[in-house]
Amino acid sequence: MPYIKRIIALLLIAILLPPAGIAEEEDFIWEDEDLSAPETLLATDLIYHTPNENSPVKCSHTDCYWNTDMGRLDEETVWKVLTRPVTVLDGNQRHQHKVRTRPEEDCTEYAGCVTYASQGVHVLEKGEEWTLIEAYSSSVEGSSVKVYAELFQGYVPTELLKEVPVDQTYGIVIDKQQQRLYLFREGKLYTTMLCSTGFYNPKKKNPWNETPAGEFLMISWTGDFYLKGEDGDNTMLCKRAIRINDGILIHEVPMIPRTDSSGNKTWSYTRCERYLGEKASHGCIRVQQKKTPEGINEEWLWKNLSDGTKKGKNYTKVIIWDDAGREIGYPDDRLELYYNQKRDSKHYHSSRNCVMIRTSSKTKPFTYGELEDKAYKKLEACPYCAPQLRQSEIDLLNKKNNR
Ligand SMILES: [Zn+2]
Ligand SMILES: [Zn+2]
Repeated sequence: MPYIKRIIALLLIAILLPPAGIAEEEDFIWEDEDLSAPETLLATDLIYHTPNENSPVKCSHTDCYWNTDMGRLDEETVWKVLTRPVTVLDGNQRHQHKVRTRPEEDCTEYAGCVTYASQGVHVLEKGEEWTLIEAYSSSVEGSSVKVYAELFQGYVPTELLKEVPVDQTYGIVIDKQQQRLYLFREGKLYTTMLCSTGFYNPKKKNPWNETPAGEFLMISWTGDFYLKGEDGDNTMLCKRAIRINDGILIHEVPMIPRTDSSGNKTWSYTRCERYLGEKASHGCIRVQQKKTPEGINEEWLWKNLSDGTKKGKNYTKVIIWDDAGREIGYPDDRLELYYNQKRDSKHYHSSRNCVMIRTSSKTKPFTYGELEDKAYKKLEACPYCAPQLRQSEIDLLNKKNNR
């Protein structure tokens, strides 16, 4: 009977062929590489460096920021670093401690500055009275110690040291080399955002604009603030600022006043948004207001991260990777990118869930290796989902950020 034959044939096909889902998954596994690790296909440092690598005094701590590779997005290691307590100097969060070059009370030579309460120090040799530490200097404009964002070692009174536990749910990594902010949640890289750290312009002789790297606590939810121009007018509105290092705050990408054609004043993100992914600020960390594919923006950070001043809460830890001496390579050609001509003909995307394209079924995957092909050559990186940059743009970033 032809009908029964057909059923038997279909059953045989079902038994002999593996389910479609498994076959597809297998297509994505190349050789023996672990493609689930985020670092595998993304742009990474050509040679990894640690802050402590050139120091004559090495540390024996485990999962310590100072001997962990900068730029390496290894989730397990980064998470251990992000959840480890921070050692700070006890004091006023708006003031800096001048760190002595010698362990003596009357020493007036200083190696650098550390901001009290929120800036982590690396304890290298702990003595009864004096402790050798290292940190990136937080000298501010007008400071008598002119060491700006440089790594230094020196002595602090041991009695000032205070170990502070940190939030165990979220942690933040800011990479000055790639100008990205990575939000980690419970051991996993949760989302990637574009940011702008401080721009030191040698022509303007303003080295205090460089954002110091290191370990920090989100010490105070300070709120919105305006920057004023020379004429006293508001020239910039920065929303939802969270203090991490005295005058250095994490806030939303600033708005700038604009007068429209009918003479009405409005605030616009456009100008400052153009610079996200590049150094641009006076030292603060500007973060995107556009939502990532995971629905995260600066406002989300403000509302959801742990504020250690509240009862039962711990501070959220922020680590900043320095850019000095670092160079990043290119992403893997097999990295998948997305394009949807109908919804967004200008950009390429890191995720098919990007808010710019996700409601459409016409999204087409392609690979990083095809990015220079005619069909994709003119596309720009999407400002919502932070896709990997083109090789030419990575070359530029390496040139600009390597001071
Ligand atoms: Zn250490
Ligand atoms: Zn996108």
